[in-house]
Amino acid sequence: MNRITPAATLRDATELVAHGLAPAADLPDLEKVAARYAVAVTPDIAALIDARDPDDPIARQFIPDSRELITGGNESADPIGDHAHSPVPGIVHRYPDRVLFKLVHVCAVYCRFCFRREMVGPGKATALSPAAYDGALDYIRSHPEIWEVILTGGDSIRGSPRRLSEVMADLAAIDHVRIIRIHTRVPVADPARVGGEMIAALKVGGATTWVALHANHARELTGNARAACAAIVDAGIPMVSQSVLLRGVNDNIESLEALMRALVECRIKPYYLHHGDLAPGTAHLRTTLEQGQQLMRALRGRVSGLCQPDYVLDIPGGHGKAPVGPNYLSGANSPSRADSFSQGREHLAETRYRVVDYCGDVHLYPPEP
Ligand code: SF4
Repeated sequence: MNRITPAATLRDATELVAHGLAPAADLPDLEKVAARYAVAVTPDIAALIDARDPDDPIARQFIPDSRELITGGNESADPIGDHAHSPVPGIVHRYPDRVLFKLVHVCAVYCRFCFRREMVGPGKATALSPAAYDGALDYIRSHPEIWEVILTGGDSIRGSPRRLSEVMADLAAIDHVRIIRIHTRVPVADPARVGGEMIAALKVGGATTWVALHANHARELTGNARAACAAIVDAGIPMVSQSVLLRGVNDNIESLEALMRALVECRIKPYYLHHGDLAPGTAHLRTTLEQGQQLMRALRGRVSGLCQPDYVLDIPGGHGKAPVGPNYLSGANSPSRADSFSQGREHLAETRYRVVDYCGDVHLYPPEP
């Protein structure tokens, strides 16, 4: 395949083939996928893809695959149950002290594993209507328990700095909103967008901004991406990361370790490693929970606590996130009451645990006298 660096974001199968990012023989299948799920590959992401490698971890995240046309029986258009907790359009209120605010439904790139793939992209509404926006703000205003607003689901940094600035000001004007967290892929997908105006828009008086970067492979943290993140952090805005555990992308310890180290080097604290959601047509990108736990155990043995994300599963049906291990505390081991009584030392019947260290060795806690 001849490789041509695109000047603009690629948005359909023909463009991907023309730029050497997919084989021409795949075109009919890719067109079917693109008709169902949005496609966008920015020039920065296209430049990262090694088209000679059929298993390239960047391509797997962004280039459509015919397996997306197969929807598994346990997959769902709303895999984490946003709808069940949406009191008004644009708001998901799942936990008492925070809401998701889904302001826009467009992203700089479209990830093939996206858990909101049925809700984002062309053909869907691109943003909340003015009336829905006002309704969402009214909802937040009338719920004083909301301490944190998370802009997500779509990418708010994809739009204009002026609009983001207005939204930030509207939210910060609500006394009980103290934290505004923005989830974004823009610093890796389109780092040039993170300029002075955008940085200024991220900062607002009256609330603290956090930025959560979505990145899944260390190669996404190019020089330009690192510079964009540095500009955010240098402006006094703390950053965390969220990554998705993806088969063929980061489901080996070397890739996962490199990603976490790269994030920390960029002053981004690894926050979540998501288990792949049951989004339609994504089975080929999911690992098992057991694989995820093994990788997390291996990660603990190789990198410091700074580099450790929480491995979490969004429970289908809208029941929220659960940390899913691994568990280092393996089974309580309590002396039997009969033994204690026979020794006349009931007060010493202390629960004893088995705890696993980073090498996999098991120890008793408290240790035996
Ligand atoms: S950036 Fe997030 S919301 Fe947008 S396509 Fe990727 S996973 Fe989905």
